[in-house]
Amino acid sequence: MIYFDKVSKKYPNESLALQDINFSIAHNEFVSIVGHSGAGKTTLLKLLLAEEKPTEGSVFFESVNVHELHRNDVTKLRRRIGMIFQDFRLLPDKTVYENIAFAMEAAGRSDDEIAFDVPHVLELVDLNNKAWDFPGHLSGGEKQRVAIARAIVNQPDIIIADEPTGNLDPVNTYEIVQILKKINDIGTTVILTTHNKGIIDLLGKRVITMEGGKIIRDDASGKYVL
Ligand code: ADP
Repeated sequence: MIYFDKVSKKYPNESLALQDINFSIAHNEFVSIVGHSGAGKTTLLKLLLAEEKPTEGSVFFESVNVHELHRNDVTKLRRRIGMIFQDFRLLPDKTVYENIAFAMEAAGRSDDEIAFDVPHVLELVDLNNKAWDFPGHLSGGEKQRVAIARAIVNQPDIIIADEPTGNLDPVNTYEIVQILKKINDIGTTVILTTHNKGIIDLLGKRVITMEGGKIIRDDASGKYVL
């Protein structure tokens, strides 16, 4: 589904962020990417989202080179990828329901679809009772559950969760990991970046370890060994 073929990335200031990166991710995999700050994780995700271009090599999404797509097709590609961030990125002046509905409107979905799908994803993250609350009234864990609901509501093929538990306590971290597993179980590919060793051990799924712009380990059922 995703294939990085001999990818290197040098930024204009000559810093070599990625060096000869080769890996693939199959449909419905759950892959964690770990590595110290500066290892190249963010750059790798930006190349997949066509936010940056590789200096060498190619990035394929279902046999299509994402860096040869026209602008409209880049927008379509990004719609197939749901994003979750450490800092949630919810709209503070919209309710939980409206935050999710807004993502559906932006994707051109109809009012009927919105009325049907929003309660459904809220159910999935167990937040139906918070539909009319504003983000400012939610705990960190609840905010991240809203962000997950928003990321999955347009039924993306892939979820990228970039340090999703970086601001959460262990109980909420556990809950978020369980929800990501559930999303993976119902057929969505999940790519997770994390510094949290506990999560990796809890998941028992594939782990790609990066250091200095290179992949130094790729373990099918990995442990965090930095
Ligand atoms: P990580 O996400 O693992 O912390 P990054 O991909 O952000 O790593 O960074 C990898 C390397 O590329 C680092 O040395 C960083 O300083 C450099 N880098 C990242 N973004 C830029 C940029 N926009 N311009 C120049 N150098 C960058």
